[in-house]
Amino acid sequence: MADLLIHGKWVCTEKDGKQVLLEDGYVGVRGDSVAYVGKDLPQGYESAERIDRKYGLVIPGLVDIHYHSDSPATKGFCEDCGTVDLYGSILYEYLTAIYAATTVEEWRAIANLTFMEMISGGITTCVEFNSYFPEEMVELLGACGLRGYVAPETNSLDGYPYTPDGKRVIIEHKTGKDMFKKLERNVALIEKYDGAFDDRVRMTLGPTEPPACRPDLLREVRKLSATYHVPITMHAAETKIEREYIRREYGMDSIELLAENGLVGPDVILAHTVFASTREKKIMAETGTNVAHCPSVFVVKGEYMKSLQGYTDMGINVGIGTDTFPQDMIREMRVATSMSKVCDYDFRSAKADLVFKCATQNGAKALGRTDIGRITVGAKADIAIVDMNGFNTIPVRDPIKVLISCATAHNVTDTIVNGRILMKDRELLSMSREKVSEEAWTAARTIWSRVPNLNELSPISIPIL
Ligand SMILES: [Zn+2]
Repeated sequence: MADLLIHGKWVCTEKDGKQVLLEDGYVGVRGDSVAYVGKDLPQGYESAERIDRKYGLVIPGLVDIHYHSDSPATKGFCEDCGTVDLYGSILYEYLTAIYAATTVEEWRAIANLTFMEMISGGITTCVEFNSYFPEEMVELLGACGLRGYVAPETNSLDGYPYTPDGKRVIIEHKTGKDMFKKLERNVALIEKYDGAFDDRVRMTLGPTEPPACRPDLLREVRKLSATYHVPITMHAAETKIEREYIRREYGMDSIELLAENGLVGPDVILAHTVFASTREKKIMAETGTNVAHCPSVFVVKGEYMKSLQGYTDMGINVGIGTDTFPQDMIREMRVATSMSKVCDYDFRSAKADLVFKCATQNGAKALGRTDIGRITVGAKADIAIVDMNGFNTIPVRDPIKVLISCATAHNVTDTIVNGRILMKDRELLSMSREKVSEEAWTAARTIWSRVPNLNELSPISIPIL
């Protein structure tokens, strides 16, 4: 890999552990790591490849700690919809309809669209939960160049939770040894793939969610984590259905159940925690449990995590995930700051510096890493450059505020992962924009054609004649 020298109008680095911007700064990359950050033109890069962005904001690659690769297939399907008798949830009728209509072929095309969108928007690390096709996921991550964590689907379910009539949810568990079958597969995949592609691809233990995992399984996950030292990723306190089910079954709330079975701690990322009680928040704060905050997907349902500022004030480490379409971390930062302000009725809630830290340093911390989410000497060269000379971003007095309040993924010009340039001046180098787009169109049309009650579940908003 050739050395790389980046020059930008502003370079985000750290001073005494805190994020700072250098005006007219340089970043030198050797191999897969950052070797220089400073305001002076460094020596020894005369033959290096150059990226010079006169109005570029050079930031750590964004760390997306919760997403689902199949999200684009639900675009234009889940908005304004939900199962009324199940608190508006889309999990049991809508997503299951899409999953049932998706084979690995369509999934591949849709996942590649997800990865293309991430690279285009400056995401450099992504953590997928509940991968239905984990081996293929490893292969696609290897090819596209992203840094990715894969959590194979792991639970004790016999099939999927479903609703026969849109009024109640049926959850059936396997018993005896069968309960551990998916976990055994999860472990086999960790042994095979953790650290693949020059350690760009890592695996996690990925129990799906509390209602899907019997306590015996949860305890086994904790035991195995001592052997494999991989993060544990899980949905928790995500829906009212979940809360009712866990209270009925166990007489407590989800995160209390997890704590009782050892599934809290600095190596655990809990996604959403939207319905967490004060007691549950205290458990997370006291145990160093991380939260993946995915604001957009909840806001469109009229729900939110109350509040990002409140969580961080309690000492909970919160990172950000996209979880839905578009896979745009800049948009998620904007929704995160806005919704925290709405929750707290306070303009001071979740300011720009906090949400930016959540999307970079905090995401890295949630994964137990100090070598990503930052541009410092010795860190992995995972970097994004945002053009701040767009009509939507000029004039720029405070680059981070403008990034969060005005920019979109389309303002990103360059994305580098592990020292490899994946997008340069908006040109994708590891994927073909045309091919990926065409294949995604075809796959989505196939999926939609297989959902028999597509228009009944999700009526078209304005008739197409
Ligand atoms: Zn999720």
